[in-house]
Amino acid sequence: MNSRTVKHKPVVLSIAGFDPSSGAGITADIKTIAAHGCYGISCITALTVQSTRGVVRMDPVEGRIITETLEELATDIDIAAVKIGMLGSAESARAAAAFLKRHRPHNVVLDPVLKSSSGAELISKEGFDILKERLIAQASVLTPNIDEAAVLTGMQVNNPEQMRRAAQRLQEMGARSVIITGGHLDVPVDLVLPRGQAPTALEGTRVQTSSTHGTGCAFSTSLACCLAKGKSLIEAARMAKAYVESALRKSPAVGTGVGPLL
Ligand code: PLP
Repeated sequence: MNSRTVKHKPVVLSIAGFDPSSGAGITADIKTIAAHGCYGISCITALTVQSTRGVVRMDPVEGRIITETLEELATDIDIAAVKIGMLGSAESARAAAAFLKRHRPHNVVLDPVLKSSSGAELISKEGFDILKERLIAQASVLTPNIDEAAVLTGMQVNNPEQMRRAAQRLQEMGARSVIITGGHLDVPVDLVLPRGQAPTALEGTRVQTSSTHGTGCAFSTSLACCLAKGKSLIEAARMAKAYVESALRKSPAVGTGVGPLL
């Protein structure tokens, strides 16, 4: 008899860029997915040349490769949740939108990555328009940070009240549930606005560390994993926030710039 035990692990797909220093993007996401006891699969949208010192260059992957990769994965594997991060180009934004339309996966977390913290543009203007006009409405949860929420809505987003108004505006623009992360505020607070429900503000504790590269990626991926495990949006948001705080506390000393989380 075969003594191998087959364990069920929810599969989480990350559609994101490649950061060779593993602070952000695909390799960081796979690390986060494994830490949640899920199984990670991925589709790379763009290569970047970067280290802890910042992004030097970004090269989008051809749209056809993205489309074929997503099709190959979705027709083979039962995907419990999808996280979409850096898209880079209009081609990859289009490929992701077509994939969501065709396969309608459960639990789609869209992290609208616009720029790196070092200031590099991580999506083209045309890609941004597709994200705003098509992808936002296809995701089950949109997770902008306050800067991304400000760019998407054209509003000022600097405190919990402005976060609440921006989240409502994002829903008027077609988003379903919205979580605006405010990790950089004096008191770190995330604003959770589930579709059709009242908002909840989740306060956190500031972790004193300079290793914050990829914090947004870790949050959105952790959220996708918790949703994949059947948690409600609010439970998943609390768990993702706790995961990021703990990963910030355990950040390894890597590189001479802004280091990664655990
Ligand atoms: N590089 C890639 C591939 C990313 O996906 C992201 C963010 O999602 C970044 C860089 C930016 O990360 P950070 O804002 O921490 O610099």
